[in-house]
Amino acid sequence: MKYSYIIGNWKLHGNKKMIHKFFTKFIHNIHIPLNYRIIITPPFVYLDLVKKYLSNIPIYLGAQNVDIHSSGAFTGEISADMLKDVGVQYVIIGHSERRIYHKETEKHIAKKFFITKNTGLTPILCIGENQKEYINHRTQQVCIAQIQNIIDTLGIISLENSIIAYEPIWAIGTGKTPTDIQVNTIHKNIRSYLDEKNKKISETISIQYGGSVNSKNAKNFLNQPNIDGILIGNASLHISTFLNIISNKN
Ligand code: PEP
Repeated sequence: MKYSYIIGNWKLHGNKKMIHKFFTKFIHNIHIPLNYRIIITPPFVYLDLVKKYLSNIPIYLGAQNVDIHSSGAFTGEISADMLKDVGVQYVIIGHSERRIYHKETEKHIAKKFFITKNTGLTPILCIGENQKEYINHRTQQVCIAQIQNIIDTLGIISLENSIIAYEPIWAIGTGKTPTDIQVNTIHKNIRSYLDEKNKKISETISIQYGGSVNSKNAKNFLNQPNIDGILIGNASLHISTFLNIISNKN
């Protein structure tokens, strides 16, 4: 079955008290449609704690980042093996906040993608244009170049069963979004591009939308035929909003 993913990216938010409240409410109100797969990506230090709550809830654990090395003298870093060890199954790679604030290059991103895949975890590759590129109608070009970086470095085969999250940078945390119809067209073009590269592999790739998704607009995005799911930042921290989005209520 091809799932519609709903991914909650908690970024640099949360604490033990919030996590307890979140999952206590979740467990009593959960109603996940059969074709949905929910992933939560808490900060590294809470992965283990969140995993304990997830033993009773059908939600999958994701990480927000990974190091390019598997071990060694790299102070402050976390490896893909360590993530796997604590029960992580998905890893966000190339989020625009990492590209911008941590100066992650396409080279870094390809290395992170490789180590994630090689460890048996599923990469969630974030792509998307900035405001200037959007105004200059360069969205498609930027997204394709970011995907092409992975294909050139690792081959199209590396994208098998992965998740691509189209996240226009100007839409993240701003309350602004492209329309669901615009996003659908962008996804359709990305899909055609992947189909041309390798249709069989393309069919295994899920293409998500992310950027200011909330309980009012989520349904519109999810109802579009070429949008396979959503990646949610801010709204995933509000349990009632997140539950409404999952259960498809407005
Ligand atoms: C994100 O961080 O990937 C994101 C989509 O954030 P927000 O939903 O807050 O715009």
